[in-house]
Amino acid sequence: MIRSASLILAGAISAGTAVADEVNIYSYRQPELIQPLLDGFTDATGIRTNVAYINKGLIERLKAEGKRSPADIILTTDISRLTGAKEAGVTQTVGSDVLDAAIPDNLRDPEGHWYALTTRARIVYASKERVAEGEITTYEDLADPKWKGRICTRSGTHVYTLGLIGAMLAHNSVEDTETWLKGVKSNLAREPEGNDRAQVKAIWAGVCDISLGNTYYMGAMLKDPEQTEWANSVRLEFPTFADGSGTHVNVSGVALTSSAPNREAAVAFLEYLTSPDAQAIYAAEVSEYPARPDATISAQVDSWGQFNPDTTSLAKIAANRAEALKLSERVDFDGASGSDG
Ligand code: FE
Repeated sequence: MIRSASLILAGAISAGTAVADEVNIYSYRQPELIQPLLDGFTDATGIRTNVAYINKGLIERLKAEGKRSPADIILTTDISRLTGAKEAGVTQTVGSDVLDAAIPDNLRDPEGHWYALTTRARIVYASKERVAEGEITTYEDLADPKWKGRICTRSGTHVYTLGLIGAMLAHNSVEDTETWLKGVKSNLAREPEGNDRAQVKAIWAGVCDISLGNTYYMGAMLKDPEQTEWANSVRLEFPTFADGSGTHVNVSGVALTSSAPNREAAVAFLEYLTSPDAQAIYAAEVSEYPARPDATISAQVDSWGQFNPDTTSLAKIAANRAEALKLSERVDFDGASGSDG
């Protein structure tokens, strides 16, 4: 696998040498995470897979390669990257009834350019010691003054935060969303810094009582001996929106490139990835929820709590991204709070 990846990275594979018995994947995710699926697909079909791990500039690279790109499939996380790829013109409609039947409407592009494979909820990590169960029930609650000096979060311009603000905009007016964001900012225990796990560490260390984070980090922390203590100091709370909509989810997903030299094999791979078995395996591997509703959720992920996901279209939430960024900058979310106390 690693050899194949480096061959692609060296540009040794070009569209001119494309054969129908392989699929080339540009992955923003660590290839190890999908290795069991790559093996399973090859076993079932005889089609080989080549993965190039790309941690930055995936869309730019596809644009630069244009029609000569060897890539068939993009595997990535976050709705902004999937919609960004479509907007950049580097994807195409898959046109598969199998995919359309497997993945719910709100978790795929209306024109079939991208499909979610997994969902992750953006939820509240709460101190087991200092926050009572059910003390926080909505995202709107995060702006309540009772949380003054008790919230930790990562940057207000990070894609995860922008996704949540975009979802807030789908449920509330721009004015109300701005007021909410100001309220959350004034409740922060410290200026936004670090990643989602750093916030849980801060709860463990007593810096704050609640934080915003994606669900799978619970799984990631429990796998790391150093971080297990952080994980064990918190409980997951699944807030909903005050209008009755469920918990905000984001996705990891796939798109078919516009160049796709091995289109047929690529579509077969995408269909394989959305089969119930592959969905269960992949979701368990990454500690997320399968996008396909009838696929099995891993026992560990299931143990974190039941919740109703917000069914607002992810494409609609992604369309609020520019407005979300504007609001984050206007309230200077990442700046010193300069609060009254
Ligand atoms: Fe993440």
